[in-house]
Amino acid sequence: MQTMNDLFLDTLKDIYFAEKQITKALPKMAKKAGSPKLKQAFEKHLTETEGQIERLEEIFQMLDVKPAAKKCPGILGILEEGSEVMQEAEDKDVRDAAMIAAAQAVEHYEITRYGSLATWAEQLGMREAKDLLGQTLDEEKATDEALSELATADVNAKAA
Ligand code: FE
Ligand code: FE
Ligand code: FE
Repeated sequence: MQTMNDLFLDTLKDIYFAEKQITKALPKMAKKAGSPKLKQAFEKHLTETEGQIERLEEIFQMLDVKPAAKKCPGILGILEEGSEVMQEAEDKDVRDAAMIAAAQAVEHYEITRYGSLATWAEQLGMREAKDLLGQTLDEEKATDEALSELATADVNAKAA
């Protein structure tokens, strides 16, 4: 990796890998959710995530590069930890609380990645890419906030 362009592309591949893993995890989480609102939140974010993957593919296209994923140990670790705690939680409400926390860890990883990518796109003069990355960044932040609200309003109250 020699240039900022290389770093940008490398990180794009990292988040492309991560998003693909997330589309595999979200249906499992929706299936296990006890709260209907939480299930709905996971399903909604699955649809958004599919759109986010399309945005990344658009950016690869702008760069004239075939979309490619690079293994992201960060997201694998976060998802692994999430699935462990999901299996270990025996109570349905405790499991919901655990899944919200795990999902927020995912969103926070994504927020850091998209934040850096959007900044670099701007620095590299890639305005369209910056807009696309910014749209996804906003979705990840909104998802994180929606999960926080669910945790406070609904799920944590029941688990207490
Ligand atoms: Fe995402
Ligand atoms: Fe990564
Ligand atoms: Fe997300």
